Amino acid sequence: MIRRENPARFAEIVGEVPATTPDEVDAVVRRADAEQRTWAATPLPDRLAVLARAATAIEDAAEDLATLLARESGKVLPDCRGELGFAVRFLRWVIDKAISAYGDSTVDDDLGRLVLVRKPYGVVAAITPWNAPIILALLKIGPALAAGNAVVVKPSPLAPLTITAVAALLEAPLTVVHGDAGTGAALVGHDLIRKVAFTGGPAGGRAVAALAGDRLTPSVLELGGNDPAVFLDDAPFDDASMDRLVMATFATSGQVCMAAKRLYVPRSRLDDFVAAYRAAAGRVLVTGDPLTPGVSMGPVISAGAQRSANAFRDGDVLDLGRFEADPEIGYFVRPGLVVSPDPGSPLVVTEQFGPVVPVLGYRDEESVLAAANAGELGLGASVWSADEDRAFALARRFEAGFTFVNTHNRTGMSLRAPFGGVKRSGWGREYAGEGLLEYVQTCVIHAPAAFRPGAEAPAAGPSAYPPG
Ligand code: NAD
Repeated sequence: MIRRENPARFAEIVGEVPATTPDEVDAVVRRADAEQRTWAATPLPDRLAVLARAATAIEDAAEDLATLLARESGKVLPDCRGELGFAVRFLRWVIDKAISAYGDSTVDDDLGRLVLVRKPYGVVAAITPWNAPIILALLKIGPALAAGNAVVVKPSPLAPLTITAVAALLEAPLTVVHGDAGTGAALVGHDLIRKVAFTGGPAGGRAVAALAGDRLTPSVLELGGNDPAVFLDDAPFDDASMDRLVMATFATSGQVCMAAKRLYVPRSRLDDFVAAYRAAAGRVLVTGDPLTPGVSMGPVISAGAQRSANAFRDGDVLDLGRFEADPEIGYFVRPGLVVSPDPGSPLVVTEQFGPVVPVLGYRDEESVLAAANAGELGLGASVWSADEDRAFALARRFEAGFTFVNTHNRTGMSLRAPFGGVKRSGWGREYAGEGLLEYVQTCVIHAPAAFRPGAEAPAAGPSAYPPG
């Protein structure tokens, strides 16, 4: 059994789920493989009807699910409600797009008849992290099921409960297996897994990609980020911008893939920025129990995360916001700002994934661009300026999958824009049309005109063949 404690009160057990050992994974995948054949033969509109019923069921249960999610993950209740709401919207968006994404398309002209057929892979392994366990699982489950795949999802043992409850609302070939990296590895390495979809950190991503590569199993990876937020010399430090930035840094206690994790400000404006940032934290950042109204930041996820976040507080740290929590009863960390740390220190060059953030002064645009683009991760970034055109021009030069202007990790467009970083932050894409196509193989059925019944015999010769 995997028991999950409440990170805000670790003496309280929120629930437990049965663990699947690596040896037991084989039977699960074989069952999923058998179910997939029936599911793939089910007409697409009928599969979509199953997703539609699930979306309604999740919507009806959203308040209870959000509370459970807050208790197991330490995320504040409004964010948990937001995640459930987005999951429902995402499922409905998949339903809306699925017919055009997954239906056949035909070309019939002088060259003959060619039909593009979108086929499911078979059984998809979905391996997900704990920090947005519902939406990050449904980003895979929704399109994979719509396309006719079966899915075996292995959530993080740090947030196994709510996703299990959500999966139970889907009357489809979807199995949840619980366990640690060993269970995940047994799943990814299984011969009947035909596609792997992983979201998590770079270390897990490397291991999963290696296993999948060894079997030539295609994989889509969404990995970590060490997002820079760059303020240009004309960027206003107004209250609304600063409030947005503070929450883009500290939502989910800084444990968000696209959180602002490194702040860059012109040297001459550093003091003003620090004052404005601290004032904003005083307005919007309240650390406490995730279920308490008005609290905007909860605990970190585990004792290990609490230790590593506190290690970043060794030295000169400016405390931020109101701290109404007891680190002795929950995994709470006092949020902090570190001004001008060594640019090579771990707080700057690694994904710190906790509520301590560095701010660094810079000399000119070229040097800050080089600093922002340094490192192996390229997930998100932001540019802040009074001049939107200037910000968009610089945004093009960031090595990031998603660059924001005058905000960070806030978008009303995520279903219109694909997600997935560059460099080592992602292989493949989630969200948007590109994400839907991750779960189908495009196959071609072609009858050249020359071979149509009654056609004249074609001239022999290499020109009849495509190159390669
Ligand atoms: P993690 O990599 O430790 O774990 C993610 C999942 O992979 C878990 O289910 C875990 O059990 C499993 N896993 C880990 N090692 C494995 C292995 N060797 N073989 C098979 N499975 C393995 O990540 P985490 O701590 O749960 O999540 C935090 C990380 O996820 C951060 O780096 C964050 O940036 C990233 N993340 C990325 C996105 C994105 O969309 N790009 C979204 C959320 C989180």
